[in-house]
Amino acid sequence: RANRGAERFTVYQVGQDEAHLRQIRVANRLREAVEAGAFELLYQPKYSLRQARISSCEALVRWQDEELGPVFPDEFIPIAEQTGMITAISEAVLATALADLAMLREHSDGLAVSVNLSGIDILKPPFIDRVIEQVRESGLPASAVVLEITETAMVEDLELARGHLLRLDAAGLALSIDDFGTGFSSLGQLRALPARELKIDRSLVQPLGDRSEDRQIVASTIDMAHHLGLSVVAEGVENMEIVNHLHAMGCDVLQGYFLARPMPAEALAAWLDEPPAQ
Ligand code: C2E
Ligand code: CA
Ligand code: CA
Ligand code: CA
Repeated sequence: RANRGAERFTVYQVGQDEAHLRQIRVANRLREAVEAGAFELLYQPKYSLRQARISSCEALVRWQDEELGPVFPDEFIPIAEQTGMITAISEAVLATALADLAMLREHSDGLAVSVNLSGIDILKPPFIDRVIEQVRESGLPASAVVLEITETAMVEDLELARGHLLRLDAAGLALSIDDFGTGFSSLGQLRALPARELKIDRSLVQPLGDRSEDRQIVASTIDMAHHLGLSVVAEGVENMEIVNHLHAMGCDVLQGYFLARPMPAEALAAWLDEPPAQ
């Protein structure tokens, strides 16, 4: 018995060491990638049910490393956050997204872009200044730039985050609460933040087809968000059945593979010129 325990412990440790080594390798390569500006952005369109048109797109970062191959954001963003590299990535992403949006708006009037920010960024005053400056210099209307932030990102220092978000809001940028339903905060707590949009996490959206109790949660979330004056986006919409449920519940905007997968800016421009039959 004692032996088996020891063996298991060893196996567990080896797994941990490997994961740790991988993190160090990713962090090292990431440092070079940040310097080389080696990130690409894909854009996933969002469909407004209210306006019956594509109203926006979300910028999603991609990194293809020479040695590591493709590394997905779910893996490298947390490492970038731990190693302090995240803010350089966020600034690069925003700069590219603004340039691409100017091009995309030639294909779709009034299109907006969403950029994902880390909670770490939101706590840094110089970053907030640069966001406002970058958007002003782009010449794009600030209201066409949406900043997506997760609720968990804000709990570290809610008062500081709130002050910064109010500055961004005053500068005209729109704030979106991302992944709603995965954290602990309630809509009541979010009332203190200058958000204009709520994104319901796909873990709540995807079971809509088969479980009626989930339907009730999503329906009341949408109603409460509307009472607070928030526009509601459902993410991870993969089939028509879920589209129908969300439409019946009064959801404002849909995003997911059912509409389109994330794609390069040039591909989105072509797609906007000739959207698939709806
Ligand atoms: P997120 O912000 O919740 O982004 C949505 C994720 O769901 C994206 O994964 C997208 O490709 C995927 N997705 C979209 N539609 C569907 C669908 O119908 N079904 C399914 N199963 N998935 C769908 P991705 O691009 O791998 O990004 C993962 C996460 O990484 C993002 O989650 C976000 O938290 C983070 N991320 C991505 N880009 C950035 C960025 O530029 N900056 C920061 N800070 N985080 C980013
Ligand atoms: Ca997002
Ligand atoms: Ca999300
Ligand atoms: Ca997510």
